[in-house]
Amino acid sequence: MDFAFDNSFHDSMEGFYAPAEAAKPSAPKLLIFNRELAQRLGIDLDGATDEQLARIFSGEELPGGANPLALAYAGHQFGHFSPQLGDGRALLLGEVVTPDGERFDIQLKGSGPTPFSRNGDGRAAIGPVLREYLMSEAMAALGVPTTRSLAAVATGDRVQREQAHPGAVLTRIASSHIRVGTFQFFAAHFGADHVVQLSDYVIRRHFPDLADTANPHLALLNRVIGLQCDLVAQWLGVGFIHGVMNTDNVAVSGETIDYGPCAFMDRFSVNTVFSSIDANGRYAYGRQPQMLHWNMARFAEALLPAIHAVDPADVEAAKDIVNEIPERFRTVWHALIRFKLGLDQSADDATLIDNLFDALETNGVDFTSFFRALAMLLRGDGSMLERLLPAPDAMAPWIAEWWEHIEREAIGPLEIADAMDAVNPVYIPRNHLVEAALGAAETGDLAPWLELLEVVRNPYTPRPVWALFAGPAPTGFGPYTTYCGT
Ligand code: AMP
Ligand code: MG
Repeated sequence: MDFAFDNSFHDSMEGFYAPAEAAKPSAPKLLIFNRELAQRLGIDLDGATDEQLARIFSGEELPGGANPLALAYAGHQFGHFSPQLGDGRALLLGEVVTPDGERFDIQLKGSGPTPFSRNGDGRAAIGPVLREYLMSEAMAALGVPTTRSLAAVATGDRVQREQAHPGAVLTRIASSHIRVGTFQFFAAHFGADHVVQLSDYVIRRHFPDLADTANPHLALLNRVIGLQCDLVAQWLGVGFIHGVMNTDNVAVSGETIDYGPCAFMDRFSVNTVFSSIDANGRYAYGRQPQMLHWNMARFAEALLPAIHAVDPADVEAAKDIVNEIPERFRTVWHALIRFKLGLDQSADDATLIDNLFDALETNGVDFTSFFRALAMLLRGDGSMLERLLPAPDAMAPWIAEWWEHIEREAIGPLEIADAMDAVNPVYIPRNHLVEAALGAAETGDLAPWLELLEVVRNPYTPRPVWALFAGPAPTGFGPYTTYCGT
């Protein structure tokens, strides 16, 4: 098996990481391997058996050319600065460059303690590993930028949480694992030259077009903010709640990273929170744009020494870029919601959008199904919408308002309906299905989890055999609580 590693972080960023090793699993067993992704990454499997894959993707066997290391980072957790976090349960094996020339990190998550583990065991339990695998693959299928999952391997060891659970290792693929918290770590402990070095590396790796701008570090701030606005807008568009938007969980690449207590919302409610550790609702569904703003202000602070080193006058420009985030986000978000509603980009419809969310909230409408029901309405079938509403005419005023906009469109209702179905999923990882699948997996039955994975990988085309996967949780399910648990 050949990865053709090309480890730029290891080779050029000494001092920004600690070499580390994986613990030996007692009886590694392959749970799943993502062959399609392996192929895209250009990994030559060379007929590897499940046993060989299990050894490599549990950390038992180090593939040739790997330089295992743990990254240093800090982070604001729920608003409070932790100067020393780092990869406490993750091990970067190295980087590969795909046949298309894209560079990706290959990282094991849950492969044992590292120099950054503090009091943690460096392990992961099977539930959170399979949850991350499922969620990240669902997000990828929905077209949301995200880290991916290449493999999950049961270790044969027990992991002690509130109870003992079977242990597992997830192989995570990311365009890099550099976080806002990585910048914060080097800004807090080392100062301008380290921040400049990290920023230069990020620009070389992710945004080479910024290298020749007047102040590349200022341009980096602007670019990362743009990507985070796009990302969070896409989260809102599919009803995703990350749950732990701490600065150590914000990747500068703009990918969704660190699937802990995340979940998708069923009934629309702007204050929805699932995470047990987010009692105050800091990272509630509708607060995610504000938290993005807050996190980017922290990123700007960490980058400031580098920005200042090029031109002190640019510090003001950085402030302006941060202050413009709410407006910038709103523009991106409204463009996205217009797509979901089948409306042309030029339509003057800010009130329509605001009224939509009021009506969805008042009526507790299933967020995912609603947009599919609107498309059915355009095809002359209002039955799906009726089933979603507490009373047949519950959203009548809003629907009438939307129809007026639809009638102004250049294309007809049937064409609009098809365009809407291409961006509005039928299937998301519904909480009750995720729970049932993970519960079965914990006792050794992977079948429900594998079926759910297949469903969420094909989110846009309805299939009669998958009817049960499309609806909200049965009454009586919930209130739903998620746990970090890894
Ligand atoms: P997260 O919950 O992924 O945002 O993690 C926050 C910090 O805690 C990171 O530095 C992790 O590496 C660390 N951490 C979480 N779980 C463990 C564990 N089981 N062992 C060691 N470190 C951990
Ligand atoms: Mg994290």
